[in-house]
Amino acid sequence: MSIYLGIDIGASTVKLGLFDPEKGVIGERLDRPSRASEGPDATVNVIKTATSELLQANDLQFNDLKAIGACCPAPIDASGMCVYPTNIDRSWQGANVSQKLSEALQLPALLLNDGDAAAYREYRVRSAENKASSCMAQFITGTGLGGALIINGKIWSGPAVSAELGHICIDSSENADLCGCGARGCVETRASLLGLRNMVKHRQAKGNVPEALQGEPMEVAKTLRRLGQMDDPLSDVVAIWQEYFTSLGIAARNVVNILGCDLIVISGGAQEKEKAASDRAYQRFKQDAIASIRQGIDQSFPHLTQTRVEWSIDTLLDSAAYGAAQYASVIGNTKS
Ligand SMILES: [Zn+2]
Repeated sequence: MSIYLGIDIGASTVKLGLFDPEKGVIGERLDRPSRASEGPDATVNVIKTATSELLQANDLQFNDLKAIGACCPAPIDASGMCVYPTNIDRSWQGANVSQKLSEALQLPALLLNDGDAAAYREYRVRSAENKASSCMAQFITGTGLGGALIINGKIWSGPAVSAELGHICIDSSENADLCGCGARGCVETRASLLGLRNMVKHRQAKGNVPEALQGEPMEVAKTLRRLGQMDDPLSDVVAIWQEYFTSLGIAARNVVNILGCDLIVISGGAQEKEKAASDRAYQRFKQDAIASIRQGIDQSFPHLTQTRVEWSIDTLLDSAAYGAAQYASVIGNTKS
């Protein structure tokens, strides 16, 4: 057997899955509260217990596991250390999570940033469908904005950390919104749920927001997702989404100018399809989004038509856990 354990560590939930490089995903995913606010050791204990449950549910033994591919929402260095706790408790700063996992489960362990893991999964699904590229950038929206570069089939990483596309600066003005990384004007301050909140706050400060956009900004940010995908959205709602996707387009333009990527992929929960939205309304929302992003890129290269801007094709909700496991299977970080 050569089965890999995939683990997606989040601030509130940890997701575990099993992956076989030959057969693909095995069985069902297992979710548990991560207890991340109690520090990495508490989460590793949760993972240890959950791994036993997952193996048992699939009639497998610990010995069937070859290695661990894990990910978490923070910049990770080459040794598997959490460099800065952007979207997880401060107690994770400086923790070598891959070492902790390896010791607890007695298996080789690889730790990735969660955006990198999700993008790698997307790359592999695209490769199987002949829709991949040797130079791809992916933006993954949620509360914040993750991002990754997959170059020649590998996650791009420098000696310090891998690419942090959410922190590309798109606004250098003095009063630009403050980002979780400590800088101002990052694309994350626009293209994310936090970004939607910021844009609503700015409109509220001017005092001319429609009734539908009044209330607590984070709740309104979620309402915006629903309103943006209605058959007949309000013009203010359309304008906010346009600003959101135009900001992604500016960041994408920077990436294309640095690396020459010919595929930009958009994924993530901040613009996922609302249950109430009709297919037609959601298609319109997607087309408007892609047009706004294209416009950002085209400001620099109006004739560079080979750069594709596409929605994610990976429909797995837990793609990061499986992406990490799949990457561990090709990187060769396995027991002998
Ligand atoms: Zn930032």
